Amino acid sequence: MWNQIYRKIKKYDNIVIARHVGADPDALASQISLKESILLTFPKKNVLAVGNGSAKFSYLGKLDHYDEIDNFLLIVLDTPDKKRVDFKFFDKATEVIKIDHHPFIDDFGGIEHIDTTASSTSEILMEFFKVSKLVCNKTIAMRLYCGLVSDSNRFLFDSSSYKTFALVSYYLKKYQFTLSDIYKKLYIRPLKEIRLEGYIKENMTVSENKVASILITDDIVTKFKADSASSGNMINFFNYIDEVLVWVIATEDVKNNNIRVNIRSRGPVINKVAERYNGGGHAYASGARLANFDLAKELIADLDKATKEYIESELNDEDK
Ligand code: AMP
Repeated sequence: MWNQIYRKIKKYDNIVIARHVGADPDALASQISLKESILLTFPKKNVLAVGNGSAKFSYLGKLDHYDEIDNFLLIVLDTPDKKRVDFKFFDKATEVIKIDHHPFIDDFGGIEHIDTTASSTSEILMEFFKVSKLVCNKTIAMRLYCGLVSDSNRFLFDSSSYKTFALVSYYLKKYQFTLSDIYKKLYIRPLKEIRLEGYIKENMTVSENKVASILITDDIVTKFKADSASSGNMINFFNYIDEVLVWVIATEDVKNNNIRVNIRSRGPVINKVAERYNGGGHAYASGARLANFDLAKELIADLDKATKEYIESELNDEDK
C-alpha cells in the first residue's frame, strides 16, 4: 500500500493535503508534516496544506490558500467521512487518497489506507516515512511526535501499541529531540482556561448511570474570557473518575451557531450514539455538532441509556 501511495505522490505535480474541520494537533501535524516531507523529497512539486487553521496550534506550521488547480492529487488525512473534510473543492480532485486511523465511514473513491489500530494519523505517517523514500527531518519528527502524543492523550489509550512505542523509539533515536520542547508548546495554557476547568469540575452533574455532563452557554465562556473550543478541549481531563463511565461537555459555539459536543467513555461504545446525532468518532472518543441544547440533552439521555445497558451487561457477565 505505501508503494502505491508513494507512486501517486511521485506522479502528481500538484498535491493538495486536507484534513477534518475543527483542526486538532494530530490532523495539523500530519498534514503539515506530509507537505514538508513531499517538498523535501520533490522540491519542484506544488503542495498545499489546506483548511481553516487555529491560532492556538500555529506552532505546528502554516496553512496554504487554495486557488483553483486543474489536475491535482488530493490526500485527506485523519478524516473518515467526506462531510467533515475541510476542503470544499473535494470533487475537483483528479484522484483521492485517504490516510486515517478512524473507523471507516465513507469510501472517498480512491486509495484508502485506514489503520484503526494506530494511535493517530501522525503515527501512520511515522510508519510511512520510515518505510518509503519520503524524506524526514528533525522538525518533521518532532511535529509528528506532537500529533501522536496529543491524540493518544500521552499514551493513555489502548491505541498506543508496541508499534507506537517502537516508532517513537526509532524517531527519538534518529533525531534526538527534546520532549519538553514539544510539551512546552502543546500543554501551555492560560490561567483563564484553568479557571474554566475549575468551573466544569465544580458544576458537572453525574447521573445514576455514571454519565457526567455539563452544558456550557456562551455567557459562561465569555465570563471566563475563554473561547468556545477551550471547554471541549478539556474533555480528556475527566478520565478515571470512579463514579463516571461516560462524560460529555456541550458548549455553545456562537460563531458557528451550534453546540459543540465532546464525549468520552471508559466502557460503553459511544460513537454509535453520536452517529444518530450526525456526529461520530471512535468507540470511546466521539463528538457531534448540534443545533441546540435540547438536542444535546437528548443525546445525553441516549448516552445514559447506553451506559445503563453497558452496566447491566457487565453485571450479567459477572454472574455467569
Ligand atoms: P474531539 O472530542 O473533538 O476530540 O473528537 C473526538 C472524536 O470524535 C474525533 O475522532 C473526531 O474526529 C470525532 N468527532 C468530533 N466531532 C465530530 C462530528 N461532528 N462528526 C463526526 N465525528 C466527530
